[in-house]
Amino acid sequence: MKGQEAVKYAAEDAGVGTITYVPGYPITELAERLGAEISVNEKVALEIVLGASATGCRSMAVVKQVGMNLLADPLAVSSFHSVGSGVVVMAGDDLGPRGSQVEMDSRLYGLVAELPVLDPRDPANLYRSIMEAYGVSERLRVPVIVRVTWRLLSTAAPQVQRIPTSAEPCSFNSPRFDGRRFDWTTWGLTARGRQERHRKEVLAQAAGISEATPLNDVQYSAEVGIVASGFPAHLASGLGASLLAVAYSHPLPWKLIRSFITAHRWILVAEEPGALIESWLQMSSKVRGRLTGDLPFGPLERSDLVRALESIDRGLIEGPEADRELRGMGCEPAESTSADVEPLEGSYSYELAAQRGYLGICQGCPFADLFTALGRLDVPVAGDAGCVIRAARPPYQSVDVVYGLGSSVGVASGFGKKGIAVIGDFALAHSGLQGVINALWRKRDLLVVLLKNDIAATTGGQEAPDLTGLLESLLPLRRLRLPAAEEEIEKLLEEELARPGISAIVAYGRCVENR
Ligand code: SF4
Repeated sequence: MKGQEAVKYAAEDAGVGTITYVPGYPITELAERLGAEISVNEKVALEIVLGASATGCRSMAVVKQVGMNLLADPLAVSSFHSVGSGVVVMAGDDLGPRGSQVEMDSRLYGLVAELPVLDPRDPANLYRSIMEAYGVSERLRVPVIVRVTWRLLSTAAPQVQRIPTSAEPCSFNSPRFDGRRFDWTTWGLTARGRQERHRKEVLAQAAGISEATPLNDVQYSAEVGIVASGFPAHLASGLGASLLAVAYSHPLPWKLIRSFITAHRWILVAEEPGALIESWLQMSSKVRGRLTGDLPFGPLERSDLVRALESIDRGLIEGPEADRELRGMGCEPAESTSADVEPLEGSYSYELAAQRGYLGICQGCPFADLFTALGRLDVPVAGDAGCVIRAARPPYQSVDVVYGLGSSVGVASGFGKKGIAVIGDFALAHSGLQGVINALWRKRDLLVVLLKNDIAATTGGQEAPDLTGLLESLLPLRRLRLPAAEEEIEKLLEEELARPGISAIVAYGRCVENR
């Protein structure tokens, strides 16, 4: 069995229902083997996956490392906003690089988006990592990144012991009221409150999981120890050194690492392509790796490790002095690494939207009746950054999820039943149009509601381009002049929701705040 088969088995056994991808080395072959659906870019690929997740479907986006730059926006937002069913981002790093303009280290997105990153070392570990990733994603309600490389995907290994799925089949159940799907309590918090919750609870639980997971492997056998992550951990076994193969490269298992370092005279850090783990540990001269010139950057070979082990005793600081250095650089495990953190409901003290005060839509907003009508519908609604977010909370409750500027069309394309994307004209031009192109191309079924006020209202009324003509050339489009009678708005929404495929309503209104 090869690494690609391990991913396929895991996707089947985890009950993954929606898989998207954008072709590129080293993930094209894997994605095609998974039967993934192509997307116009990685941002849209992740948005579709987030939409599927919000309506109860385990999902996966398969992208290469430069694609991580594209999807970073919805990834970072989803980290704090919450997801529904499990979301995995499979990031394929092109080491070398062979089919890319640059070599990048996707593990860094774990730090950027503050998400767990699994870095599997062999096909069996890859299978188990993906299975664990879905469990962690649903427990913490965040996407989980699984980093792969071509060597990992193409390496042969014995058949894995498959785990029967525990996932429920994908089904739509109004995400507004079903705790199993998207966690609607997230709207009870302000953005600051969500940030506080994420750092206090989600990352603390992730740290505990990283510490306790059976996917870690520790073997003590010598005075030299190798701290390894990813495929280099596979290369490092059988070299006569002790080995700590960590499952997560973010957050790291600090307790394990610290006790491993303390128990050895010399430490070599084996990872690729960058020096992510080593950079945390480099203040101790006991620790060697790329930053000390003992290993080359980029992909590692077994011979690199052998050479580094042979010459590792240069400039050594031993024993208690090295231990003191480690304590000084913050290697103490955090107090809050317990995996048994209380669930959010009823226990949080983070900034609540109700305490901060209502920051809803303005008195006299022309879109108010439209927001009311959207809130009454029993279909999933994806919102976008801007005034739509203001209508997410009571009394409107017009939208279910918002994953950043220009995201709503992609997200609604992933819903498990026909839904609505509400988007402003600036957001459409920003990146929403790629979602429209993708929805047309892939024959997705959704209604786009364009709030047309010709400005970026929440940022000061800057001019927005008029894309109505372009939109009309692409899909069926109807116009709604606001203010309008409630019945007219509801009838129009119902009629367009009944129309198969993608269509749009352009709602014209004049912003009262930015005249
Ligand atoms: S800023 Fe303008 S568009 Fe936004 S809620 Fe206020 S009135 Fe409505």
